[in-house]
Amino acid sequence: MLTSNSHFFWVGNPADDSQINEKFTQLENIAGLPSALGGLVCIHHDNAEEIDASLKAFYSRPGSWSWCVFVTKATPLSECVTDGVYDEQLASSTWDGMRSRLETMKHRSTVDPLVGWLGVNRERRVKPLKSITSTSIYSYPIIDLFFPDLSSTYRYVLAEQKQGVLENDQLIDRIRVCSKCNSGHLNYIEVCPSCSSIDIESQSSLHCFTCGHVGDQQSFLRRGKLECPKCLTQLRHIGVDYDRPLENHVCNSCSHLFVEASTVSHCLSCSSQIAVEDLVVRKIYKMSLGETGEYTFQHGKVAQAPTLSIKGKVDVSFFQNLLAWVNKVALRHGEKHLLLGLHLPSLDDYGKQYGDARLFALMDQLTTRLGGLFRDTDICCQYRQDVLLVLMPNTKESSLAVLRSKLKELSGLIDEEDFVLNAFAWTLPNKELDADIDIWLENITGEIYAAR
Ligand SMILES: [Zn+2]
Ligand SMILES: [Zn+2]
Ligand SMILES: [Zn+2]
Repeated sequence: MLTSNSHFFWVGNPADDSQINEKFTQLENIAGLPSALGGLVCIHHDNAEEIDASLKAFYSRPGSWSWCVFVTKATPLSECVTDGVYDEQLASSTWDGMRSRLETMKHRSTVDPLVGWLGVNRERRVKPLKSITSTSIYSYPIIDLFFPDLSSTYRYVLAEQKQGVLENDQLIDRIRVCSKCNSGHLNYIEVCPSCSSIDIESQSSLHCFTCGHVGDQQSFLRRGKLECPKCLTQLRHIGVDYDRPLENHVCNSCSHLFVEASTVSHCLSCSSQIAVEDLVVRKIYKMSLGETGEYTFQHGKVAQAPTLSIKGKVDVSFFQNLLAWVNKVALRHGEKHLLLGLHLPSLDDYGKQYGDARLFALMDQLTTRLGGLFRDTDICCQYRQDVLLVLMPNTKESSLAVLRSKLKELSGLIDEEDFVLNAFAWTLPNKELDADIDIWLENITGEIYAAR
């Protein structure tokens, strides 16, 4: 069924080769392609901008995952999203492999485009593209093309990898990003370890054994000889009269002498100053189809809801144990904690109405916004698909008003019209919780749902 040459399209300038002209249907642009599943397209333009624009137009079409895509000239984008530079042999073997996979595939109409794209051609990889104009430095173009609503392809890839849809194939780079704004545009500066001034310089110092004076080598030079500027002793032999101290840096602000400067990083995007050890390390991988992805490709969609990836997030059983323990400690020591319950009633319907990709984009937005609201010491748990519990240690009930107004502001910022976020709060310690954590959590979840 997919064997005839009517599936071969040549887009852009006509080829010089008459053989190609016989084999391919010639088209001026992507818009002329049929909207069927399965086909082979070769994009032939002179300049890179045109090639990339055609690729973007191509991937905005439904079912584009099922096509073999070639270019006649490689661009950095084409390296990430096509099957290579056109070559008759390569094109025919790629097409044969893809066609047979596509023909035996059961869930062609419902497959996730990324899973479909990776599944029909096992040579394909989700490849990172480096762009120094973007603050995140790396992006995954194929993800961008399939899911243009995402704000971070990195987080998407990470979530898909955790669920086994994708699998790490090869480590391409390791970068550090700002812990405040995720920008990779950082400057590293050596500073004085005593006063943190950036005005430091290296100097060659000498140390006089007679009087203990340490100073710049220059100040010891007198008439071509070395002489201590303090005690005027002539310094003849290193190790006997003088030596070089280890401290070969000086701070021009506080005159501190030191061996090694401290390093701080300065975010060029948000101007935060961050200790190097507090920067977030990102490993950038090239990825292939993972085990869950393989399963989905063979057997159709597994019912797996996307989850929020908020910092300090733990799984349900850990959260229960932690809550029980914190409650006991609070009872004994008279501490006050706050448990926040966030209900997102629209999430469930949202996924059904707009599909997983849009739902993920929304979760992605939420993750970013909620992440900015909580402190590092707050512990989050996605208790249900639509219920998030947050333990905020040493937080008084009086902070609730501020939190509520921040949450209200946050829901207003989400770019979805019917988005609703309801907040609930309970103070700890609580005697009932101490008796049975499972029942207590079920009760509060009931309260959340009842308030709907
Ligand atoms: Zn001296
Ligand atoms: Zn200093
Ligand atoms: Zn920053």
